[in-house]
Amino acid sequence: MSETEPAPVHTQVLDGLALANEIRAELAETIAQLVAAGSRAPCLAVVLVGDDPASRSYIKGKKRACARIGMDSTEHLLPESTPQDKLLGLIADLNADDGIDGILVQLPLPKHISAAAVAEAVDPAKDADALHPTTSGRLLAGTAELISCTPLGIMAVLDHYSVPLEGARAVVIGRSNIVGKPIALLLQQRNATVTVCHSRTRDLAGVCREADILVAAVGRPRMVKADWVRPGAAVIDVGVTEVDGKLVGDVDFDAVLGRASLLTPSRRGIGPMTITMLLRNTLLAYRNRKAL
Ligand code: NAP
Repeated sequence: MSETEPAPVHTQVLDGLALANEIRAELAETIAQLVAAGSRAPCLAVVLVGDDPASRSYIKGKKRACARIGMDSTEHLLPESTPQDKLLGLIADLNADDGIDGILVQLPLPKHISAAAVAEAVDPAKDADALHPTTSGRLLAGTAELISCTPLGIMAVLDHYSVPLEGARAVVIGRSNIVGKPIALLLQQRNATVTVCHSRTRDLAGVCREADILVAAVGRPRMVKADWVRPGAAVIDVGVTEVDGKLVGDVDFDAVLGRASLLTPSRRGIGPMTITMLLRNTLLAYRNRKAL
């Protein structure tokens, strides 16, 4: 070790699948109790436009996750050429269907369809993916129940490892509606002092070095280097990019091992937690709608 190298830190590496399974077991137990008491199972409607193989695989995983906890799901596969009006018509039907509790429209959508229009079409009471402006507005106001799945999964990881949030310096790289903005709000609501970085941030490495909690949600493989990480920081890697057939995160995982106190891998990391929070949101939407 050189004089300037910090002492090695024991890094806890998240097993996102194990933690996800713990939470899913609790959700399954709640559903079993509701069904035993005479209610129907909650139901998630999954909509896919086009036949992108990655999206197909994601929705397959989501449907399997539903089945494993006793949640029903329906699948609505539409061709790539589907006009926006037709998709909005399907969403209106799902909104009106009392047997559907949550609606997920898999992203990305074909270029001719406005993702914003689709998000606004979903009934906020069934907004399992938490993308409707009403849902985001509630998050801003601190009154949200349905919360974006990936940020909610990140908070569950931080809480699982008892990462102190109050007064902590948190840095989020990325400002998307799906990850960066909502995780920044959630961390702020828990009294962290949050800095949000993006493609125009000056001295990104220097800003990251200040962080007790660093969340990377960019989509640039191994962008976060070891010397961007303050020794002992909790590092949450959200990014996933396929490189030579392998999924690679935004964080240089091997280099940050032994420097961060907590590190999430790109496989079995935040991904399973995201799906778990989709299940959590669907169950919550069902209970709210049915007053159960
Ligand atoms: P996005 O909408 O493309 O946003 C990326 C953000 O990164 C933008 O705010 C962008 O800044 C910022 N950025 C781009 N280049 C940068 C740079 N050189 N320096 C600093 N910031 C930079 O992506 P997203 O939907 O948030 O997803 C981010 C990543 O997370 C992707 O890899 C995605 O696949 C992954 N993801 C994973 C999960 C999961 O469950 N594991 C869930 C969601 C997303 P500007 O705003 O300035 O353009």
